Amino acid sequence: MRSGGAGGHETPRTVVVKVGGSLVSDKRTDHDIDEAAVRDYAELVADLVRSHPGQVVFVAGGGALGHSSVRRKEHDGRLALLPLTRATFDVKWVWTEAFRAVGLPAAPLQAMAMYAEGPDGPVFQTGVVSRLLTAGVLPVLSGDCVLTAAGGLRILGSDHVPGILLDGSFGPVRVVALTDVPGIHSGPDGDSPVVPYLDAADPERAYACLWPTAAWDTSGAMHGKVEAFFSHADRGAECVITRGDRKAAGLRHLMAPMSAWPHDLPRTLISRSRPV
Ligand code: ATP
Repeated sequence: MRSGGAGGHETPRTVVVKVGGSLVSDKRTDHDIDEAAVRDYAELVADLVRSHPGQVVFVAGGGALGHSSVRRKEHDGRLALLPLTRATFDVKWVWTEAFRAVGLPAAPLQAMAMYAEGPDGPVFQTGVVSRLLTAGVLPVLSGDCVLTAAGGLRILGSDHVPGILLDGSFGPVRVVALTDVPGIHSGPDGDSPVVPYLDAADPERAYACLWPTAAWDTSGAMHGKVEAFFSHADRGAECVITRGDRKAAGLRHLMAPMSAWPHDLPRTLISRSRPV
C-alpha cells in the first residue's frame, strides 16, 4: 500500500516524532525512566507543536518498561503478550503527564485500538488521531501488542507505529527518530561517518552497516528501526534518524524541507528520492 508521503522532500503535512527509549531510560533495567530527560524532551516537542499546531504526532520508545515486559511473559496462550499493552500504556502516561506539566494538551492512544491484521490485510482506525489534531491535542502513541489475522497477538514495535498513519489522510508524512546515535554509521563503530541518504529501494545497503544487537534488546535496536523505516519509506514517508539532544535549542527544523535543515546536523534520511 502506498500513500502520499513526504518522499518528494517538500514540507511535510505531518511529522511523527519518536523519542527513542535509549534517550530516557536504561533498557537493560526493568523500570528505569529518567523523568528529567522526559520533561526536557516534552518541552522541545511542545515548542514544535505550538509552532505547527495539528501537525505533530508523538511516539514514545518503549524503554525499560516496554522491553522488560517482553522479557517477562506473565500470561500463556495466544494472548500471552497482553501485559505489554499495560506496560506501554505506563510509558505513554509518563509522557502525557510531562506534556501536561509544560502546558500542552496531550492524550495517550493505544496502538492496539488503531491497528489489527485481518484476513484481507491490515485494518487502520485513525479517525481519532485526526480529531485530536484538529482539537489541538497531541496524540501520544507507543509500541504495543496488536491482533494478528490468526487471532493472536504480536509486538508492534514503536518504530513500526508511524506506519499506522500512512493510510493517506496525514500525508505528506515525515517520521523522525531521535535516538542515541547521530544516524546510521557506515563503519563498525561511532567514529565512522554517518550515511546521509539511503534509497528506500535498497535496504541491503543499510543492513550491511549494522552492528550486532545486544540480547536484552527486544526490538532489535537499529535492525528494528531499519526494517520499520524502509517499510515506511517504501510507502512514501520521508524517514530520518538523528541524535536527540535534550538541551537542543529547538526542534522546529523537523518541519522544514530537508534542504533547510542545519547542514552541520548529522542524520540519515531514508526515502524514495534523494534530496536536492
Ligand atoms: P527504542 O527503539 O527502544 O525506542 P532507540 O530508538 O533510542 O530505542 P535503538 O533501537 O537502541 O534506539 O537504536 C540505536 C542503537 O542502534 C545505537 O545505540 C547503536 O548501538 C545501534 N546500532 C547498530 N548499528 C548501528 C549503526 N551502523 N549505526 C548507528 N547505530 C547502530
